[in-house]
Amino acid sequence: MQIKDLFSKKKYATIPSERPKRDIPEGLMNKCSKCGTIQYSKELDKNLKVCSSCGHHYRLSAWERIGMTLDDGRLFEYDAEMESVDPMEFPGYKGKLEQQRQKNPSLREAVVTGEGTINGHPVVVAVMSFDFFSGSMGSVVGEKITRAIEAAHEKKLPLLIFSTSGGARMQESILSLMQMAKTSAALSMFQGAGGLFISVFTDPTMGGVSASFASLGDYNLAEPGALVGFAGRIVIEQTIRQKLPDNFQTAEFNMQHGQLDLVVHRKDMKVTIGKLLDMHTVREGLSHGG
Ligand SMILES: [Zn+2]
Repeated sequence: MQIKDLFSKKKYATIPSERPKRDIPEGLMNKCSKCGTIQYSKELDKNLKVCSSCGHHYRLSAWERIGMTLDDGRLFEYDAEMESVDPMEFPGYKGKLEQQRQKNPSLREAVVTGEGTINGHPVVVAVMSFDFFSGSMGSVVGEKITRAIEAAHEKKLPLLIFSTSGGARMQESILSLMQMAKTSAALSMFQGAGGLFISVFTDPTMGGVSASFASLGDYNLAEPGALVGFAGRIVIEQTIRQKLPDNFQTAEFNMQHGQLDLVVHRKDMKVTIGKLLDMHTVREGLSHGG
């Protein structure tokens, strides 16, 4: 039996189809996928890609997020050239990777990592992009995130990760699942040594990413309305044979049930992270009693 025979007959559950894959079409105007309001793209950009009518947070690319979060949008990027190969020789994977790179010329993989500052505080950041292969975590995503954690550990800097992901990258099979353990182990060492990790869930964060590093923050934040969970709603409903509440797996639902610390509007995100960094900064001289 070949690997492709294992995968040919079943349809695997993914993010529910009513959630648009790309909710920002190119052009002058945008129609909100949630309330249908039509807005000028420029206005929407000014509003940090949040619908002025209903507050729907549009998905952002990694670079848009970096531009909004880091001081002057400046990032000293790590591992920019690291690219996925096809370790399992999974049928069609190489071609799909190439398509993803062509579709996203500014990305080589589904995560961008590096160093920057927020309100003057140096931080190590990792920002995922749902545009690239549905933000799925393969060996390269796991490796870049692990290296970012290790860099934060070595340099004694806080770590900030914005997650968005459909889950593990099935084309890399067990090697992608292994990234869950690898990132979590690196975080455990970092946090054990006193490192600060702020994790931000953005829409959507599912599967192996929510079940590993994304949920291990000292602070777990999320954007309003973000879908945060492990298995999808349809899979769970079919398994437990019960209807789930309408707001199931939203950031707000997760917060009500103790899975998140705070739901933060995009316009307040940088300020909130800045305050957390302030709070954890040891000021020279304070401990010496003046
Ligand atoms: Zn709207």
